[in-house]
Amino acid sequence: VNKIAILTSGGDSPGMNAALRAVVRTGLYFGLEVYGIMRGYSGMMEDDIFQMDSRSVANIIQRGGTILKSARCKEFYTAEGRAKAYANLKKRDIDGLVVIGGDGSFTGAMKLQAEFGIPVIGLPGTIDKDLYGTDFTIGFDTAVNTAVEAIDKIRDTADAHDRLFIVEVMGRHAGYIALHSGIATGAETILIPEASTNMDDVIASLSEKEKRKKLVNIIVVAEGDAFGGANEVAKVIKERLPKFDTKVSILGHIQRGGSPTCSDRLIASRMGYHAIEALLAGKSNVMVGIINNEMSYTPLEIAIREKDIIDEDWLRIVKILAS
Ligand code: ATP
Repeated sequence: VNKIAILTSGGDSPGMNAALRAVVRTGLYFGLEVYGIMRGYSGMMEDDIFQMDSRSVANIIQRGGTILKSARCKEFYTAEGRAKAYANLKKRDIDGLVVIGGDGSFTGAMKLQAEFGIPVIGLPGTIDKDLYGTDFTIGFDTAVNTAVEAIDKIRDTADAHDRLFIVEVMGRHAGYIALHSGIATGAETILIPEASTNMDDVIASLSEKEKRKKLVNIIVVAEGDAFGGANEVAKVIKERLPKFDTKVSILGHIQRGGSPTCSDRLIASRMGYHAIEALLAGKSNVMVGIINNEMSYTPLEIAIREKDIIDEDWLRIVKILAS
């Protein structure tokens, strides 16, 4: 490997810049030429590619978003689209690619690898923590902390007015943001896509608490929970428990932004460094992850296909601690 390119793709996440900085500086340290591709696969297609030096990544470790920008690119789903995009790497003799993104971005990278033989390394850049083969994804910790901070604030006002807030956090297919932020804010219950939502249980628990005058302020719902998100949950509670002053708060894109936490900067730096080491060691088609504080290299196919099982223990703990 002599010349590598890097891109950020799919939903952005805080810490992508820190990862980018690590990849670029490590690549340069080992004598590689490093190219940045703007707007993910769109920039590869449109030849929006530039050579990076050490200063291209100065003063970005603390910044949210991604200086390379991110985009979704329809054309890349077709073989002709990918051939057109690859031609722009080929003409620069780029012989290695690092993709920071989520499952869709990894699928695109795998196809590029299969069709043109270019080695690809994935870095898990997603707030959802929905990839297999790593204990952390870049951006998850920041997103959870943002959600916790927001829910704490909602709780203050909920408490002042004796209201019940149904708070929706991000996670269309994965409930980790809901689970972690819900536990950390002492939520009454947490509704996630991975567990079936039994509304009868939720209603029973709320009425039991109402009877003994225990105030309940917060229910955390992942946007992709089986019930259809916070508005749907609130509708049922309002109908069945009209006594409760029930409100909805959808946190939304605030969870994607902001300066990455120390933890996200550390894992981004570590993973970025190891992405280059992996390429130089001849690895390809793997996602760099961290499991039990050790680096791990999971085939991209497995990283996107296998699902982490959410430990049901957590949901039991939530219930007990909210009693
Ligand atoms: P997130 O999970 O945060 O949304 P992601 O990486 O999964 O991130 P996607 O929008 O699914 O985001 O994918 C990003 C881009 O990767 C797509 O716009 C497309 O260019 C490419 N891509 C996704 N799936 C495929 C596929 N099956 N074949 C080829 N390219 C793909």
